[in-house]
Amino acid sequence: MLTPNYNLQPFNTLSISAQAKFFATVSNLPSLLDVVSTARKKKLPLLLLGGGSNIVLTDNFPGIAIKLNLMGRELVKETDECVWLRAGAGENWHELVNHCLSHHYWGLENLSLIPGCAGAAPIQNIGAYGVELKDVFYELEAVQISTGDTVVFNKDACQFGYRDSIFKGRLKDQFIITSITLKLCKTPKHTVVYPALAAALKAIPEASLTPADVSTAVCAIRRSKLPAVEEIPNAGSFFKNPLISHALYSTLQRSHPTMPAYDQGAAGVKLAAGWLIEQAGWKGKGMGGVLMHKHQALVLTNPKRASGAAVLKLAQAVCTSVVERFGVELEIEPRVYP
Ligand SMILES: Cc1cc2nc3c(=O)[nH]c(=O)nc-3n(C[C@H](O)[C@H](O)[C@H](O)COP(=O)(O)OP(=O)(O)OC[C@H]3O[C@@H](n4cnc5c(N)ncnc54)[C@H](O)[C@@H]3O)c2cc1C
Repeated sequence: MLTPNYNLQPFNTLSISAQAKFFATVSNLPSLLDVVSTARKKKLPLLLLGGGSNIVLTDNFPGIAIKLNLMGRELVKETDECVWLRAGAGENWHELVNHCLSHHYWGLENLSLIPGCAGAAPIQNIGAYGVELKDVFYELEAVQISTGDTVVFNKDACQFGYRDSIFKGRLKDQFIITSITLKLCKTPKHTVVYPALAAALKAIPEASLTPADVSTAVCAIRRSKLPAVEEIPNAGSFFKNPLISHALYSTLQRSHPTMPAYDQGAAGVKLAAGWLIEQAGWKGKGMGGVLMHKHQALVLTNPKRASGAAVLKLAQAVCTSVVERFGVELEIEPRVYP
């Protein structure tokens, strides 16, 4: 059941070559519990793998990498207005979105074409085009690694934030999400706040707009900006958009009047990491075979399948440039292993 010395290159979208000490694929709860208990006995760390689209492997992994293939979609409750849909952690996210579109359920259309699996979506509260997972999230089931017990987390318990949840903070590496349940609308409820999305949909009268229309527009915008991982290995946005104080923003705004900024009230002002990186001169540039994408400077690409160390070296150089130019610290979005 455990395969030793397994190369994880096909299991991460940056296509970095790194070996796991052991590898296992699990398709049901008993075999997951089996692997978890083996890891406990052997005192080995676990690396949970969905689509591998939000990880950076900087070295070999000294434990068990588990590819989670827990599948299944189930309508668990339905009213006149809503449905509650449960999806196994291994369900491909975009296929789940398409499933909802085909049933005219509203809620996931803005999150179309995000790579990866359903089980990873709550980890960083995936978001795009004005919608975050938390807006449609109902609850999840997860296995506690230390006990093997199944625990249910409702929305509050997940403590969702911007690209954040309790599973990246206090409960990091303590739970394996086995399924998520989403609450979706049967009646029209769209979020078209992004100017590019609004422009793409302006020809369609609001009353006849479908979730599929929104999804089609989102997919077209994404395809025009983001490189497909099958063609150019990448992990999407490599840095989070930084949150800075109002005082620092006022200073920066004077010297950079065109700088995009989003007021977050008492929390501060959010800046566009891609703009800062572009201004620092990294758009289309890189080092060691790793490049910041020529169409979207926020996306770090790995066309030559360079090592995790080379990826981190470029990331560090980009961060240093942005600090020197703007005094703003960038934070890497994907999880760095080991
Ligand atoms: C081209 C591209 C575009 C992207 N666009 C977006 C975007 O618009 N918005 C956005 O938010 N993200 C985006 N991402 C990032 C990424 O797709 C999401 O974070 C996605 O949810 C990751 O899913 P995954 O299955 O690939 O996770 P993985 O990379 O496999 O795992 C990510 C982390 O979650 C953990 N994990 C995975 N599954 C489980 C589980 N079942 N239980 C416990 N822990 C688990 C892993 O151990 C790891 O730490 C993009 C990535 C790419 C490559």
